[in-house]
Amino acid sequence: MRMKLIAGNWKMYKNSQEAKELVQGLKDCLSKPLENACVVVCPPFTVLKEVCQVIDGSSIKLGAQNLYWEKEGPFTGEVSAGMLKNAGCAFVIIGHSERRKYFGETNESVNKKIKAALENDLTPIVCVGETLQQRQNNQTLRVVEDHVEGALQGIASSDILKIVIAYEPVWAIGTGVNATPKQAQEVHKYIRSLLGNMYSQEVSKNLLILYGGSVKPDNIGDLIKEEDIDGALVGGASLKVDSFTQIVDKSIKANV
Ligand code: PEP
Repeated sequence: MRMKLIAGNWKMYKNSQEAKELVQGLKDCLSKPLENACVVVCPPFTVLKEVCQVIDGSSIKLGAQNLYWEKEGPFTGEVSAGMLKNAGCAFVIIGHSERRKYFGETNESVNKKIKAALENDLTPIVCVGETLQQRQNNQTLRVVEDHVEGALQGIASSDILKIVIAYEPVWAIGTGVNATPKQAQEVHKYIRSLLGNMYSQEVSKNLLILYGGSVKPDNIGDLIKEEDIDGALVGGASLKVDSFTQIVDKSIKANV
């Protein structure tokens, strides 16, 4: 059985004090060891170190929200995969739609970032998904295929299972309107079929695919029941101890 993975994307929220309070609250609530499940928090770069110190000794893992693919150099404002590793990260979100929309992220840059993450032993959580207009024009599967194929160009079979894919329909992010379990399942199943064609049935069966987009305590239960949904990438609801721990609890319950 594939494990469940729940990742919180804190986006550009939480100063040092707020971040420590939030993660301490999560640590207190998630004190039992997790069975066949993983919880990740992805705070802003500025508080990675502090969050890392708080989660030490717990089962919560640290992730970042972006990286730059070069090792080091004159790239003002950027942070490398090696620096993230050094700050205690195990995961990194790559190709979030907000980065594609506001910061010119492309399939090519996503692909380079994934390779840099893998070289530094970071698990990339690679975001793919269509806009509302693309869905309305029946282009959802074509857009997702383009994102998946573009992101995974040149990624070897030996590395592919070190990657996590997050299906995040853009129209569902931060809107309060989640994809229905049926809509999400259709795309997740399609991603598995793509992986089967690009790699193998083993990869298709084992790669983790998360759903993201307005995940809340009251909708995760139905989403996680779907055969091809292995967890969630959570934005807004990851900023409060209560809502994030409820999402984690309900996801883990789906394992039993
Ligand atoms: C996200 O930022 O990846 C996200 C899914 O946000 P939200 O849960 O707020 O829709």
